[in-house]
Amino acid sequence: MQIRRTGAVFAMAAMAAGLAACGGGDSYTNALEKVKGAKEITVGTKWDQPSIGLKKGTADPEGFDVDVAKYVVKELAGGQDVKITWKEAPSSNREALLQNGTVDIIFATYSITEARKPKVTFGGPYIIAHQDTMVRADAAGIAKATDLKDKRICQAQGSNSYKRITDPPPDGKLGLPAKLVGASNYSECVQKLSGGNLDAVTTDNLILAGFSAQEPGKYKLLNDPFTDEKYGVGLKKGDKATCEAVNAAITKMWQDGTAKQLLEKWYGKTGMEFPTSAPPAEGCA
Ligand code: GLU
Repeated sequence: MQIRRTGAVFAMAAMAAGLAACGGGDSYTNALEKVKGAKEITVGTKWDQPSIGLKKGTADPEGFDVDVAKYVVKELAGGQDVKITWKEAPSSNREALLQNGTVDIIFATYSITEARKPKVTFGGPYIIAHQDTMVRADAAGIAKATDLKDKRICQAQGSNSYKRITDPPPDGKLGLPAKLVGASNYSECVQKLSGGNLDAVTTDNLILAGFSAQEPGKYKLLNDPFTDEKYGVGLKKGDKATCEAVNAAITKMWQDGTAKQLLEKWYGKTGMEFPTSAPPAEGCA
């Protein structure tokens, strides 16, 4: 009796799982299963950063991260089209959005850092950016990153970049005193720079190049890169299956020339130089 009852319960549970899988929704155990089963996924990107993740009006966001996301998601689905729902993933919210399931996967200038590793499983990196510094075109006295000592720099909420100036490694770098001026994101940082409330915005060169290209002649980049920002694909902590599949997709994206083509599309006019092969994978943890 006992055995038969257990068998029946198991059969019902299996049926329920099968039905749930057909209906889509929240029943998938990881992002990969959801992409393959429901052919849909919710992707977090930046919405305020030109060239990398920018949303204009009601259109889908666009930029390098957005295009990488489209490529990777399609690969996860074995080359089939997937319906993507785009959500904004600002620096301040990325870990929470993954933890509470608002987004399934994040491509948002998301550096793999020691502080984030306990909360996020990172695929990739898919590109390595480098922190640089942007000042107003007419600014004098800031020529290199170490000149930021005691200067007013932007502290974008939840971002790691200000720590690279003020803190020591591993997540910091220079350990210099600086005056931190808060902002909710990098577009607000750039507004504050424009308005004279800041001396510099220091963050990833891929972010700064996008802002600078949007308003030619207004700003200058110091071209003094001083960190490696490994852009990871953010996944719910422990989702190793999706992470492995993401890494395979990234390898393919570099091998088939797509990464080169996307960098050319979004950054070709900046004169920035890029590697031709994928950055070494970090391993899924
Ligand atoms: N890549 C850095 C980070 O993840 C700076 C850019 C950002 O905040 O998105 O903190």
